[in-house]
Amino acid sequence: MIPGPFEYHAPASLSEAVALLSEHGLDAKLLAGGQSLIPLMKFRFVEPAVIVDLNRIPGLGGIRRENGHLVLGALTREAELEDDEAVRTEFPIILDTAVVIADPLVRNLATVGGNLAHADPANDHPATMLALGAEIVATGPNGERTIPIDEFFVDTFTTALAADEVLTAIRIPVPGPRSGGAYVKFERKAGDYAIAGAAVQLTLDEAGQVTSVRIGLTNVNYMPMRAKQAEAALLGKEPTEEAIREAARLAGEECDPSSDLRGPADYKRAVTRTVTARALRRALERAGAAAA
Ligand SMILES: Cc1cc2nc3c(=O)[nH]c(=O)nc-3n(C[C@H](O)[C@H](O)[C@H](O)COP(=O)(O)OP(=O)(O)OC[C@H]3O[C@@H](n4cnc5c(N)ncnc54)[C@H](O)[C@@H]3O)c2cc1C
Repeated sequence: MIPGPFEYHAPASLSEAVALLSEHGLDAKLLAGGQSLIPLMKFRFVEPAVIVDLNRIPGLGGIRRENGHLVLGALTREAELEDDEAVRTEFPIILDTAVVIADPLVRNLATVGGNLAHADPANDHPATMLALGAEIVATGPNGERTIPIDEFFVDTFTTALAADEVLTAIRIPVPGPRSGGAYVKFERKAGDYAIAGAAVQLTLDEAGQVTSVRIGLTNVNYMPMRAKQAEAALLGKEPTEEAIREAARLAGEECDPSSDLRGPADYKRAVTRTVTARALRRALERAGAAAA
């Protein structure tokens, strides 16, 4: 329960935060909602010498529309996603995700930026952002850069962010007509991490065939992953119940869960099949597919 000692900084600007990261290197940790970092510090799994609190930097929060994208500021809280009208109506996949993360108290503080930057394969936003083909906006000493989500997760708890970079926003392309997305998570109890979760975002053409599909999986690999074989099995096809089942079967094959307190690997593969099929059906329904 007792974290190690640390120096605390609350910079008032992004450039100050980046300068602190540059100065202290790997000794420093950014603090966003603190809902993953502080528990780890209390167990002394991490003992940062320097904490750089992002919460007093103006402009890091907020949900906005920009050039055909939904932009989530890094400090957007889970609870804000639940309340946002654009998210509720146009991005039900994000709403699906936010409401199954932790509990209301945690969601008042936990941020989307922190959920992604933490890169825990058990976190829920990574799969959803993989499905949405999001981009991560990061600022470091040399200015801003954009990282495609497919290149963002590199290992367990490891992202493509440099030690002196701050994730400032997440840019999500607004899906076109006849698109739908859904996130389905299977968990032991409310507030727990997923046994398995699946995020699907797809688009249909006039004839009802799948013209694009991205599937992200939660907690069934050492890092957040896309189910690319499952995607390939659906692309260009009519999403019949048979095609859905085949894609779900492939997702169950290509994931690589470990056996732990949430169950043996085989069970998690079975859950992956189920959540993938359910997410596909719900995404198709939302895309307006006739008889999904
Ligand atoms: C009881 C409980 C249950 C939970 N259940 C779930 C769940 O079911 N699903 C789920 O997805 N999550 C769950 N969480 C985790 C919660 O959503 C986390 O808080 C979140 O993943 C991290 O966000 P944060 O803003 O709290 O980040 P912090 O804890 O502040 O930071 C986490 C890490 O990300 C880094 N970081 C944060 N922001 C940035 C940034 N802008 N740029 C660069 N690095 C940054 C930090 O340095 C740190 O290493 C749970 C947490 C608790 C306490």
